Amino acid sequence: MHSASSATAAPFRGARVDLAAYIRDVPNFPIEGVIFKDITPLLRSPEAFNFAIGQLEAYCRTKRPDAIVAIEARGYILAAPLALRLGAAFVPARKPGKLPWKTIREEYQLEYGVAALEVHEDAITPGQRVVIVDDVIATGGTLGATRRLVERLGGRVAGVTCLVELAFLNGRRVLGDVDLHAVLTY
Ligand code: AMP
Repeated sequence: MHSASSATAAPFRGARVDLAAYIRDVPNFPIEGVIFKDITPLLRSPEAFNFAIGQLEAYCRTKRPDAIVAIEARGYILAAPLALRLGAAFVPARKPGKLPWKTIREEYQLEYGVAALEVHEDAITPGQRVVIVDDVIATGGTLGATRRLVERLGGRVAGVTCLVELAFLNGRRVLGDVDLHAVLTY
């Protein structure tokens, strides 16, 4: 009879991983002058991916979130396993026009022009504790807009967590008075 083997089903545990070794710098992507932090080497390694999720999970547990709000698209990769481990709701924040139900929208400044994110208006109920998750915080505009979306729905942003903070861009300032955690800081 075929059954799930505990040997193969057991999660990776214990060993620390040097996550910085799994993040690739790609100069001049997507535009000249930006050094893109590519997390795909980390996602390719089950040990590194699992360790990274564990680091995010440890932070999230201290915040006792009801919901994890994730930012399209790389935030989803991190937030989905995280929400399952925490027993929290997974809430997607998406680019405009992608969500099918009634939405609210927040715009934010890019280097050139503006961008926007949306969430469903029933995605969070008033008073819920929320942790927002993304892969990278750069200027903080994306996470700042997401914070406003959560607060407009009556959610309480208990914290924000990312794999990577580009501290020299000072995104913390844009994010304002909210607890920001990053696994790696550059
Ligand atoms: P920002 O709004 O400037 O904080 O930008 C954050 C968003 O853009 C995140 O969703 C990131 O995935 C992406 N991003 C910005 N800068 C970088 C970078 N240097 N490397 C990788 N992703 C980045």
